[in-house]
Amino acid sequence: MNDKIWLSSPHMGENELKNVQEAFATNWIAPLGPHVNAFEEGLSQYLGEGVQVAALSAGTAALHLALVILGVQAGDEVICQSMTFSASANPIVYQGATPVFVDSEEQTWNISPKLLEAAIKDRIEKGKKPKAIIIVHLYGMPAQMDQLMEIANRYEIPVVEDAAEALGSSYRGQRLGTFGAISILSFNGNKIITTSGGGALVSKNEEWVKKARFLATQARDAAPHYQHSQIGYNYRMSNICAGIGCGQLDVLEARVAKRRSNYDFYKNELSDYTNMRFMEEPGSDYYSNRWLSTLLVEEDGGFSREDIRLGLEKDNIESRPLWKPMHLQPVFEGAPFYGDGTSERLFQKGLCLPSGSNLSDGDLNRVVRQIHQLLQTVEK
Ligand SMILES: *Cc1c(COP(=O)(O)O)cnc(C)c1O
Repeated sequence: MNDKIWLSSPHMGENELKNVQEAFATNWIAPLGPHVNAFEEGLSQYLGEGVQVAALSAGTAALHLALVILGVQAGDEVICQSMTFSASANPIVYQGATPVFVDSEEQTWNISPKLLEAAIKDRIEKGKKPKAIIIVHLYGMPAQMDQLMEIANRYEIPVVEDAAEALGSSYRGQRLGTFGAISILSFNGNKIITTSGGGALVSKNEEWVKKARFLATQARDAAPHYQHSQIGYNYRMSNICAGIGCGQLDVLEARVAKRRSNYDFYKNELSDYTNMRFMEEPGSDYYSNRWLSTLLVEEDGGFSREDIRLGLEKDNIESRPLWKPMHLQPVFEGAPFYGDGTSERLFQKGLCLPSGSNLSDGDLNRVVRQIHQLLQTVEK
């Protein structure tokens, strides 16, 4: 059996282990310490736009705290892009609120401005103005931020920007992760850079970032004893993980460049199959980190997305269908949904190819060779 080729696996640089050893040498083995501060500072420098950063234990924790800080409570409604990873929506339910799912549009696969506005209008008509809008940049592709922010601002609803997959991407030259009233990042093992597990809450509002750090360390009031006047969480990032994060920040630009070159490679090598459509940047306003290389497979070519996925699996190569929309998930059955079938279609036809920044030329060639072999038998 050939070695496994993963969809997206961790890729360490030169400094991560050194930073971890430094944490051991100085005994900063805790959810605070110099690496945590340096990681926050490094991220805020990288993102620009005057944002501040709170390093947390996960992107999911960051989303949860974002909703807490925005005052989302039991009985409230929060709009969420339907096509995403479940972590975008779960924290809505942690707060006892109801997710209202909105479909994607074809160009970016992210939340449709048209359907977003229709959903807001209808929820207000039904008596409840949504408390927040969760916008996701799937696979690193920027959502249509100009239109989306205009709508959110017009209805005065704060945006939570889920940039978990989009560190290193930008829209009109502005880095993703700086658009939301609150934005979040993830450093899970499969993301473009990783701290093994981790996340961050990002905002221009310094009070909110301070509040996030406060809530993430059990909401301890200023007192010599342990005093609490609010419910807190244990959501802070460990200094060990932050040391890994600092090392990963040093190589972030290189990781983006490699992921983008993976995408270009696949697109060139597979350009003969007219029923395969690679996910394109809609124009020069959109710069994707190409976290995952994605494509749609139209069935009129005589083969399907599943034919390719299963064929790759036979050669020990991991690929995956696109995110299954939340409005189709059993756990969110009955949640309100505003859609036109777009995300369902994308889910039926879409595939993510192995996309790690640590893939060798040999690995990439093996993926392409396997696809060619598979499809030799069917008409191009
Ligand atoms: C990975 C991911 C998250 C969750 O981040 P964790 O760090 O794994 O908790 C949230 N939203 C999206 C879109 C993601 O891909």
